[in-house]
Amino acid sequence: MPYTEDRATWFEGQGLWQHIPESDWRDWTWQLKNRITTVAQLEQFMTLTAEEKAGCIFANQKLALAITPYFFNLIDRHDPNCPIRKQVIPRSGEMVLSEEERLDSLGEDEHSPVPGLVHRYPDRVLFLVTDRCAAYCRYCTRSRLVSNAQDYNFHPEYEQGLRYIESHPEVRDVLLSGGDPLLLSDKKLEHLLSRLRAIKHVEFIRIGSRIPVFLP
Ligand code: SF4
Repeated sequence: MPYTEDRATWFEGQGLWQHIPESDWRDWTWQLKNRITTVAQLEQFMTLTAEEKAGCIFANQKLALAITPYFFNLIDRHDPNCPIRKQVIPRSGEMVLSEEERLDSLGEDEHSPVPGLVHRYPDRVLFLVTDRCAAYCRYCTRSRLVSNAQDYNFHPEYEQGLRYIESHPEVRDVLLSGGDPLLLSDKKLEHLLSRLRAIKHVEFIRIGSRIPVFLP
């Protein structure tokens, strides 16, 4: 479907969820609770291609299927090549692994001095603080641990990570990631941010998040 004013209104409205009270629609907890997580749910709303159907059958072995209703409304259900659709609906190609392909595609685990912390470049670290996201992107480079579909059993060690950063004065930049750090409770986030802010040599704290896209 080409972009039209009607379509813009559809995006801004509740689309397929017109029957839901607006207060629920705008509530991020409602959006999380009502995510589309099964092929049966998907098929209630759209016709899947054969490639997508096959992908959905295997999705939970690689990276869980989860799409917030808000984000699902952005998909052009009549276009199998809709780029938004391709972000979140599994396809069979995901299960094809070439010989050279690594599960840890960015080689992060070999640069992990403590669980959940990646120190590859001298002055910056990647601090993985959760394995959960609001929705799961099929292209995720960390699918080995995100959503725990592959039984990676990721358990972030906040204290070990914080102590490592405290004792490495060369680290001036900390990128909180995961999973999506903005899914943490305010209390946990406050704890992490206040501890990091108290470290004199940390100049930058960044948060990698897709919450503004999946749960605006
Ligand atoms: S939000 Fe980030 S970590 Fe989560 S699935 Fe998407 S790319 Fe991966």
